[in-house]
Amino acid sequence: MNSQFTLGVDLGGTKTEIIALDTSGKERYRKRTATVKGSYPDTIKTISSLVFAAQEQTGGSCPLGIAIPGTVSLKTGVIKNANSWWLNGHDLKADLAAVLGHDEIYLENDANCFALSEAVDGAGKDGDMVWGIILGTGSGSGLIHNKKIWRGRNLLGGEWGHNSLPWITSEEAAAWTDVKCFCGQKNCIETFVSGTGLERDYAKRTDSFDPEAMVYPHNSEYIIEKMREGDATAKASFAAYVSRLARSIANYANFFDPDVIVLGGGMSNIDELYELLPEKIKEYIFGGEFDTPVVKALYGGSSGVRGAAWLPAMHRS
Ligand SMILES: [Zn+2]
Repeated sequence: MNSQFTLGVDLGGTKTEIIALDTSGKERYRKRTATVKGSYPDTIKTISSLVFAAQEQTGGSCPLGIAIPGTVSLKTGVIKNANSWWLNGHDLKADLAAVLGHDEIYLENDANCFALSEAVDGAGKDGDMVWGIILGTGSGSGLIHNKKIWRGRNLLGGEWGHNSLPWITSEEAAAWTDVKCFCGQKNCIETFVSGTGLERDYAKRTDSFDPEAMVYPHNSEYIIEKMREGDATAKASFAAYVSRLARSIANYANFFDPDVIVLGGGMSNIDELYELLPEKIKEYIFGGEFDTPVVKALYGGSSGVRGAAWLPAMHRS
């Protein structure tokens, strides 16, 4: 085993990416390829070819971390809850170990990998307790304590998006009564604070909401552009979005009081969030004092793959 390098793979819905990090965290190799959707055997092929190509550069087998959508069941060892459905029910670690010839392979939820990357040497590197939140098509979050993923007894550590929106108003509950989360619950944080949540809100305000639709007529970029032009409906949608995100953060900050909150995903590129969120969060903080930085991810879209590459070191320490 070549321990001078670790490999990280991000198994995304549209792309699969690999990097090699040296022991100082410097990236030494990177390659990405399209994800073959719907086929588990093709997933094994894609990952193993990327690993073999990387190992030609690093010189021999290296410890490997993989960021996966979903989690590995503690009871059965197989993947569950992945929106890349073809992974569900498979023992990816064992199947890859058979092909790669070693089992120093660590699988971890992609939001946890994102948070780990930002906590180790990203925007949260100075904090003991780092809360990483992804705001993309969906939302996810991970908690890192002293550079280790806070997984929890049932792997629920950092699960955030499938709790109910805090301080929900009767108007919000009434307006969103026809919105059901994929998890089976109603009023989940994810349905409000993801990019899809903003798009859904705007669709409702412009009478273009279809409860059967998964995609809405106007995307987040369009809504933010309209908001910046001064459009009243877009401004109202964005103000509601900021309030909902602030409440969803404050409710948990009141409980575990993190040192830093790092935002990732497409919505984290909206600069206005960093101006508005701190004050808005404070409105819901017990006692009103809150100086926790809310910052943008340093590694952007690469946080998942970097976090995956940090997994072997985290498990060894
Ligand atoms: Zn849910």
